[in-house]
Amino acid sequence: MRKLLIMANWKMNKTAGEAVAFFDSLPALPAEVDTAVFAPLTALDALSKAPLAGVGLGAQNFHPAAAGAFTGEVSLAMLAPFGVRYVLTGHSERRDLFKESDAFVAEKYWAAADYGMMPVLCVGESMAIREAGGAEAHTRAQLDAVFGDMTGRVLPKEVIIAYEPIWAIGTGLTATAEDAEAMCASLRAHLADRLGKDVAAQARILYGGSVKPDNCAALFAQENIDGGLIGGASLEPASFAALVEKG
Ligand code: 13P
Repeated sequence: MRKLLIMANWKMNKTAGEAVAFFDSLPALPAEVDTAVFAPLTALDALSKAPLAGVGLGAQNFHPAAAGAFTGEVSLAMLAPFGVRYVLTGHSERRDLFKESDAFVAEKYWAAADYGMMPVLCVGESMAIREAGGAEAHTRAQLDAVFGDMTGRVLPKEVIIAYEPIWAIGTGLTATAEDAEAMCASLRAHLADRLGKDVAAQARILYGGSVKPDNCAALFAQENIDGGLIGGASLEPASFAALVEKG
């Protein structure tokens, strides 16, 4: 049985003070659900000293190189002292707005795995791709860019995938539970082909895209949906707690 995993992606929201205030007013969360927050880099120091009540800390971005001339970037070794356990890779906003290619996403994924962090690999199709019937092929290709050649690769402690259809992110348009389940089942089947049945059975596949307290229960009840990666509805403590409780 896979444990439910609810991850908050705060994106470019919350100063360090606001991030600490979030945890100050977060109600106690049920222990049967794993939780994490991807906070802005500037909040990590303050959060590393704050009581997070069992919520794991994640970073939204990093550079895969160990060090060097990469102005404005941070390395995994710079994040580690703050207790960062998770990092996002392949989020559609990084792919689209910051032109991160499949190859760069793969570089980031394996750099994080090699460092001992848990990368969350985000995949998802645009509305144009979905309407053309290409959603499964597109997201499977995004998996292949990372897992297609496993020569010399050692998987992270846990494989975590987030299926986030681009057309559902921040739009209020959620995929139906049935459509999201079909996509997550397809991704799990593809993971089984690439990484073997056991890894695929244990991998947690999250859904992201306009998940709210009033639509999360149907999504999280699906066999192949093991939780959510949540933007807007994760910004308020009460709403985040409601997502975890309804899961
Ligand atoms: P929303 O929940 O705001 O649609 O964002 C989803 C997302 O991009 C999480 O990474």
